[in-house]
Amino acid sequence: MRHYTRLSRKNYAIDLGLFPLGSCTMKHNPRLNEKMARLPGFADIHPLQPQNSVQGALALIELVAHWLMTLTGMNAVAMSPKAGAHGELCGMLAIRAALDARGEQRPVVLCPESAHGTNPATAAFCGFRVEPIPADARGRVDFSALKQRLRPDVAAIMLTNPNTCGLFEPDIVEIAEAVHAVGAYFYCDGANFNALVGKVRPGDLGVDAMHINLHKTFSTPHGGGGPGSGPVVLSEKLAPFAPLPFIHKLADGELQLVEHRDEDPKAAQSFGRMTAFHGQMGMFVRAAAYMLSHGADGLMQAAEDAVLNANYVLASLKDVMTAPFEGPCMHEALFDDRFLKDAGLTTLDFAKALIDEGYHPMTVYFPLVVHGAMLVEPTESESKASLDQFIMAMRGLALAARAGKTARFTSAPRFAPMKRLDETQAARQPVLSYRPPSQAQAAE
Ligand SMILES: *Cc1c(COP(=O)(O)O)cnc(C)c1O
Repeated sequence: MRHYTRLSRKNYAIDLGLFPLGSCTMKHNPRLNEKMARLPGFADIHPLQPQNSVQGALALIELVAHWLMTLTGMNAVAMSPKAGAHGELCGMLAIRAALDARGEQRPVVLCPESAHGTNPATAAFCGFRVEPIPADARGRVDFSALKQRLRPDVAAIMLTNPNTCGLFEPDIVEIAEAVHAVGAYFYCDGANFNALVGKVRPGDLGVDAMHINLHKTFSTPHGGGGPGSGPVVLSEKLAPFAPLPFIHKLADGELQLVEHRDEDPKAAQSFGRMTAFHGQMGMFVRAAAYMLSHGADGLMQAAEDAVLNANYVLASLKDVMTAPFEGPCMHEALFDDRFLKDAGLTTLDFAKALIDEGYHPMTVYFPLVVHGAMLVEPTESESKASLDQFIMAMRGLALAARAGKTARFTSAPRFAPMKRLDETQAARQPVLSYRPPSQAQAAE
């Protein structure tokens, strides 16, 4: 126990301080969620139990599905994908199945240059050829370049809104109409849905498929590659191709999992299965607890507070740091590295110095369209006092950088358990097993 507690104290945690990672949305994980997920009736069930013994669990999955469809204004939702990236795969497989059903070969998927790397990776994995769409000077999709490229060889566009620069795409309805006009589908990357919940329904914007990262928007913990959940909402056009299994309500009210194509006419065109079982029960319980404890008003308030907090950070820092785009942001504030140039410092130096100030660094070098990007997302649950403290630390660093005080950057982190690591070696030669120091020396 002491070993693990000691290890945990070397780490940074959302319960210790503000976690400004942009795009990742590091929300507070309410303890109520944890308490609900540990109720034995949820925690101890097994996916191979007879269905009549898990009716409550199926009803809870239906409840989360209902909230997701209502909040997005979409017709169907696939609950089994286990992460955002897995949801992208699900959505794109549904699009491919829909094209197959139309008897059409469309080899191209369009992705904006600012897209998260999982978007082109997913499209390529599904056998599509990825073509980039440039960004305009405002950090938005270049709509005229997109319109020119839209031809009948395009299967879909994958677009994030708000985009990865933390900006709303104002042309989104026109983009959806133009995409549909050439017979293509609109995949929306819903990783930033937390900025829109209760304000805008993606279904009203013309979206055909969108994943929702429950660990970003609905406060379930980030699992470190572990038990995630990325349900995918689908439009009327794509709903017939949704994956198996899905829940069907019988006339007597009993809930039944449809597992095979021949079991139900609604399953006839399903593209198949994403996972062995019906998703991540523990995550569904946590998301349901978050939805029910907030209510629709509370979820909208969370979205508004997330946007307000990000704009407070942006407005409080843009005189000493440099922001690449004009105007207010959505739920995350983006800076570039122009203010570090004169001192010869990099975004990485700045991020490492922030560790010495007691904070986890913000997202760095993403999105790629901005040089030396720093993406700060404070989330909605941070108080003004905690934002002010963070802003003070950031301002202090920015002013030190502008004053050419480089030593505290290049030697950072000085106060962390590990100092500046060799990032290349860490990626190429990861050390995956622990050896006591004496044995490790002997091995060398
Ligand atoms: C996080 C993220 C993803 C991938 O989601 P995972 O749940 O990490 O697989 C995709 N796109 C964007 C914009 C994201 O921020």
